Order: sequence, then C-alpha cells, then structure tokens
Amino acid sequence: MDLNLLRSTLEELGQPKFRFEQIWKWTAGGAAGYHEMSNLPAALRDELTERVPFSTLTEDRRATASDGTVKLLLHTHDGRPIETVLMRYKDGRRSICVSSQSGCPLTCTFCATGAMKFGRNLTAWEILDQALHLRRIDELNHCVFMGMGEPMMNLPNVLEVCRRLPDLGITNRRTGISTVGWVPGIDQLTESDVPVRLAWSLHSADPQLRTDIMPVNERYSLADVKAACDRFYEKRRKMIFVEYIMLGGVNDSVEQAQLLADLLEPWKYKINLIPYNPTDSVYDGSEREQIERFRQKLEDNGFNATTRLIRGRDIDAACGQLAAKAAA
Ligand code: SF4
Repeated sequence: MDLNLLRSTLEELGQPKFRFEQIWKWTAGGAAGYHEMSNLPAALRDELTERVPFSTLTEDRRATASDGTVKLLLHTHDGRPIETVLMRYKDGRRSICVSSQSGCPLTCTFCATGAMKFGRNLTAWEILDQALHLRRIDELNHCVFMGMGEPMMNLPNVLEVCRRLPDLGITNRRTGISTVGWVPGIDQLTESDVPVRLAWSLHSADPQLRTDIMPVNERYSLADVKAACDRFYEKRRKMIFVEYIMLGGVNDSVEQAQLLADLLEPWKYKINLIPYNPTDSVYDGSEREQIERFRQKLEDNGFNATTRLIRGRDIDAACGQLAAKAAA
C-alpha cells in the first residue's frame, strides 16, 4: 500500500487525522482488504478501494514447501518480478526474506538473482507490501533483507520499511540487512537511527577468489568493507553476522577457513555457514563433512560459527535461488 497516496487521499476526502493510523493498524495486522475494516464508514471503504490500491504488488504465484516455507512470486505495476519468502520454524520463528530490487546489478556468480536482468530499485511501498502479503498468511517476528537485490543500494527505502516493520510484529532487533559489501550503504546505516542488525555476505577471505565469485570485490576491497563493518560495530556495539556460502571445492577448504578467521575478530563477528543450494550455476554444494571441518576450524580460532538450516529447497526458495523463474 502506498502510504503517501493513502495519506493524501484521506486529506483530499476531508477525513479526520486518526483515519490514517486506523487503516494502517488494520493493514499491518493482516487485514485482507478495506472491506474488513469494520470501524470505517462504508462509503470511505468504497472510495479507498477505487483510489488507493490495497497493494502495490500483484501476486502471480504461491508455492508452499514441505517444511512450511512459502514463496510468493509478485509483480509491480510496471511488470517487474519480485520474489519473497516466509520461513516457518518449529520454535515459533516466522522469518521473512524480502527483496529490495527487482533483479540485481551485482552479478555474483553463484546467485540465481545475479543471472537475471536487473530491473530497478523497489519503492518503500513495494518492499513493505511483500511483508504485508506474507503477514496475511501468518504472524511474523523476524525479517532479513536477503532476497533479490543489494539492499544497501536502496537503503533509504529499506530504512523506511524498517521503521514500519514493528507494527507488523517485527522489531528492529529482529531485522537484519544483508550486504555483499556496499560501503557507502554500510556507512549510511551506521549513521542512521534505525537499530537493525548488519549481515555481511563475505563468501571468501581470499581477495582473488572473492573477485572471481563476487565482482563487487573489485570496487570495494575486503579491507574497505571490513573497515566499514568495524565502524558499524564501534558505533552500535552489536555483533555483525557474516554469511558464508559453502561452494564445494571452491571456498570450503580449512585453509580458507583460516583466512576467514585471520580477517575477523571473534568478539565482533558471528559466522553463519550456508549450505549451497543447487541452481543452474556451475557450482556444487560442499559435502556435509567438509562444512563441519570448516566450522570446526573457525571454532578452534574462537569463533561462534553455525550452519544454517536449509528451508524451502523443493520450491527454489532457499538462499541464492530467487530468480523469478515463473516470470522469466
Ligand atoms: S548475492 Fe545478492 S548482491 Fe550478489 S547477485 Fe545475488 S542478490 Fe545481487
């Protein structure tokens, strides 16, 4: 829902100020449309239905995996495809993974989104609507900006959404923005007033290998990104999550683990190893035993390192798999 359009329309209609919050409360609470807003005059509900689309997005497809993960394929008014995912865990966590761009300009070689044509930055309302579509399916309590796109290239809109997410049940403490290392965005986040978590998609501590799998490394070196993350830590005193995708025979040796351990400090960085999900790329996922050896090496160096649970693999909703296949 375009909240600017809602506000200006209510003003034009001469509605009292409290209407905006009233409507937003219903929407953030998972209402399916204006028709459910029983404390609104019927004529106003009809007028809003005509003038302010309930969502800026249209749902094309919904897929539910055997583990309860739901993936939505949506499109914007100008036909840009977006995917968004809800992951449901046994402990009650309801975590959403939202997209900040349609496609992505950064072309990481292991990523299905990077192989798509880049569309554009999404508006704040197009990002927020992904969360609202998922809120209509279930209650929500965690969010990561780890879907399609590099969120730091669209940070003002991402932060606008972060300010609204607590109304949907997702506190800023439970919200994470993930970046491959877009330094100006990391610095903007550090200076912002939004207390979200930072995640760095690092994937290799070897500069040449990192450039091979993530061309952005040529623009912002490991040292530059590390310095920006350290500035974030100095200001916020919040541990930074490091995401490390495990590509079989590429970045998963114990020597690579040692390089990673040498780059980071265990009191500032928590490492999350991500089993690679097969896409149409040239890579294979690491063997389970190799992931464990890598993890153990990090633990030997004093790090807190975990291996992520795989969710939604059977519907291509797992990490690195978002590519709007149905719309391609
Ligand atoms: S991993 Fe992220 S930054 Fe890299 S191509 Fe995929 S969406 Fe873009």
